[in-house]
Amino acid sequence: MTVRFWGVRGSIPVPGAQTVRYGGNTSCVEVRPDGCAPIILDAGTGIRKLGKDLSNAEEFLTGRGKVHLLISHTHWDHIQGLPFFSPLYQKGTRLYVYARQRDDTHLRAVFQSQTEDPYFPVPFDAGQADVSFRELLEGARFEIGPVKISCTRLNHPWIAMAYRLEHQGHIMVYVTDTAPFRDILFENEYINAPPQPGEQLRPDAVAKLKTMRDALVRLCEGADLVIYDTHFTPEEYAERPHYGHSTPWDALEIAREAGAQQLALYHHAPERTDDQLDQIAREVAREAGSISIVAAYEGMSLELGRRAGVPGSRTGPIGGKGAGG
Ligand SMILES: [Zn+2]
Ligand SMILES: [Zn+2]
Repeated sequence: MTVRFWGVRGSIPVPGAQTVRYGGNTSCVEVRPDGCAPIILDAGTGIRKLGKDLSNAEEFLTGRGKVHLLISHTHWDHIQGLPFFSPLYQKGTRLYVYARQRDDTHLRAVFQSQTEDPYFPVPFDAGQADVSFRELLEGARFEIGPVKISCTRLNHPWIAMAYRLEHQGHIMVYVTDTAPFRDILFENEYINAPPQPGEQLRPDAVAKLKTMRDALVRLCEGADLVIYDTHFTPEEYAERPHYGHSTPWDALEIAREAGAQQLALYHHAPERTDDQLDQIAREVAREAGSISIVAAYEGMSLELGRRAGVPGSRTGPIGGKGAGG
């Protein structure tokens, strides 16, 4: 299974002299399992260039292209590139979009509204591709061809989904965006102020955070690669816990508990320079023991090694605990 990074930045694209090496495009990762159509995680601005590559491939040129797109959540930095994804305008392309089900709006409407007048000249449905949407419940398990997918919710304003992909004993887990699971609980709401110093969380919030964290550790269990939101330094996090992002140290804690082999620092803050990212990766690597640390950069490609004895996951229709709700 090959994993390729097309955009590694959080919040907003930041081209410029200080971000040349790691790249300025927002979240997008391509996974190429052997014998399966590409699976793309998030549609930040990095997806534009990936789309150019795909649309020149034989199957897309001949109208047989197929792409699966797993969306962590629909914040701007995770969907902004989709209107510029050229296979969307290629007749015959089949695009399957997966994201968490909302209570109030169907996924299709969420994506249609992204390109509504006066924000964009081309309506979403003007694309030639056949686009279908699969709404996911938290904890859903399903298959894309030979790849087993499972997901769990994260601690982020309006909730994001983390995904685990398993294929031929290779496992990668994509975890963005999330706050750690201790200071604040995000539900379907915007939190505009940090918790007060010494403020106690309600017991039900503590219990929910524990459940969420346990599920995430299970999702990452035995992974060859965990890609994790490490937007903040610890100092930045202390000032803005209500933004819903983690530090590399939070990521390392989860990766270690889950027995992951490699951790990719991801969703870099827009202000983070190349030199700072080098420094952060070195610091984390010093503490990481046997876990291999890499700060993700645009164009980075990882080939996941084969592992023996990886437990398979239950398969079935898309649906979580209490499926059908
Ligand atoms: Zn984000
Ligand atoms: Zn977000």
